[in-house]
Amino acid sequence: MKTIDKIYINGEFVTPQGTEYFDLISPTTNEKLGKVRLGNTEDTQNAIRAAKNAFKTFSKTTASERIQYLTNIKSSVEKRKNDFINVMTEEYGGTLQFATISYEYMLKGFDSAIDLLKSYDFTKTMGQSEVQMTPIGVVGIIIPWNSSNGFIASKLATVIVAGCTTVIKPSEMSAQQTQLMMECLHHAQLPKGVVNIVNGLGEIVGAEISRNPDIAKISFTGSTNVGKIIAKEAINSMKRVTLELGGKSPNIILDDADFPKAIPLAIAAAFMNNGQACIAGTRLLIPENKLEEIKLIIKEITSNIIVGDPKNPNTAVGPMVSTKQYNRVQDYIQIGINEGAEILTGGLGKPDGLENGNFVKPTVFINVNNQMRIAKEEIFGPVLSIITYKTEEEAIEIANDTTYGLQAYVSSSDEKRAHNVASQINAGRVQINGIGHDPMAPFGGFKQSGIGREFGTFGLEAYLEPRALIQQK
Ligand code: NAD
Repeated sequence: MKTIDKIYINGEFVTPQGTEYFDLISPTTNEKLGKVRLGNTEDTQNAIRAAKNAFKTFSKTTASERIQYLTNIKSSVEKRKNDFINVMTEEYGGTLQFATISYEYMLKGFDSAIDLLKSYDFTKTMGQSEVQMTPIGVVGIIIPWNSSNGFIASKLATVIVAGCTTVIKPSEMSAQQTQLMMECLHHAQLPKGVVNIVNGLGEIVGAEISRNPDIAKISFTGSTNVGKIIAKEAINSMKRVTLELGGKSPNIILDDADFPKAIPLAIAAAFMNNGQACIAGTRLLIPENKLEEIKLIIKEITSNIIVGDPKNPNTAVGPMVSTKQYNRVQDYIQIGINEGAEILTGGLGKPDGLENGNFVKPTVFINVNNQMRIAKEEIFGPVLSIITYKTEEEAIEIANDTTYGLQAYVSSSDEKRAHNVASQINAGRVQINGIGHDPMAPFGGFKQSGIGREFGTFGLEAYLEPRALIQQK
């Protein structure tokens, strides 16, 4: 049993003033793993004060100093590779496969941040003016549990590139992952107060970050509902916001796609991170006249999917993070059945032998239309809806008929055709013939998938304020 009872303020591990505890429950067994002591409003204010004070000097650091800090963090994260991977599998049930890829992405993210810092011009000439891109101030970072340390790493790296300071509020369900990251950051010896981390509840710690006038900007990743609450509060003090929210990503398989390659990728895109991914491709759009052929391939693939212990290297789908999330996914499977969709594979209940954990049967629905709730709402579990289309134009129309627009996928053996279709999808990222991540390309959502972009120049500029000096000659 672990007790996590420290938060990180001004370069030190301190005991929170908050006295409440939150139980940490294994999603694989539902046994109690430990508990975390939660910070309160005063703790959050102390962290903001430390960040505000540190900003005075950190905002003036040179690029080479910031590169050194990023290098230090990367090297301390490198030393704890196994711990990072293990804690993901243990704490939220991320599979070993997913946790390993996530860890590699996290490390590469520091390299991209360093490259960005080396190439970005903080002083530009526009018209006759000098434009100085200045650090925005204290950034409040609020993140979910589904890739907690990955989010801390990428957002914190941008904070440092920009010369800002930060107060981070991770999900209370990620306390063990957060503890590991706090230890690495402490080891990296950043100047005191540059990074502060407060464990706590959204309505308390998150709400104070959204309200406090000394926070200049919020970088939030999480649900669309909470994103709206934060944005409404933030506007009172004109905080800038970057919101990375939910998705219901379409995956268009064109009729000339290489099905034996494209369909396994589509299943992987739908069930990645146990289906608990904002970018999951949860609406699979296939040509109507290929349905029978594709059904056979899907049955074959899904019969080989290993569901179970996330620590097993062959496991493709682990448990849902909590019983609440398990119940939510079950509710959606029932909603799909009630709406008249047909289960091709999976269905209600737990897979045999996995009754103790929050395991779901990876489920594929056919006979889905885009107006059904299972096609419209983010389920956040391994549930895929197959929707058929007659023409390419109809596929694009269905893909865009959503309130979301985070990511999309297109497969075709004709690159030009795929590019043409991808260029008509209203989503922040469109993956063509595969699944990848480009840390220099913008990431973020159209419509209710968010506001703003992360990564690369777009991501950095969201942490900077331009100041134009117009000198009359
Ligand atoms: P969530 O929105 O419930 O919580 C996210 C964070 O917000 C947590 O730290 C939570 O404590 C905090 N929070 C909750 N209420 C708050 C409030 N009133 N004020 C301030 N903070 C508050 O999301 P979740 O269930 O942890 O994560 C799943 C959601 O995150 C999904 O909708 C998913 O699509 C989304 N997500 C988006 C991305 C992306 O990059 N677009 C990535 C991963 C997850």
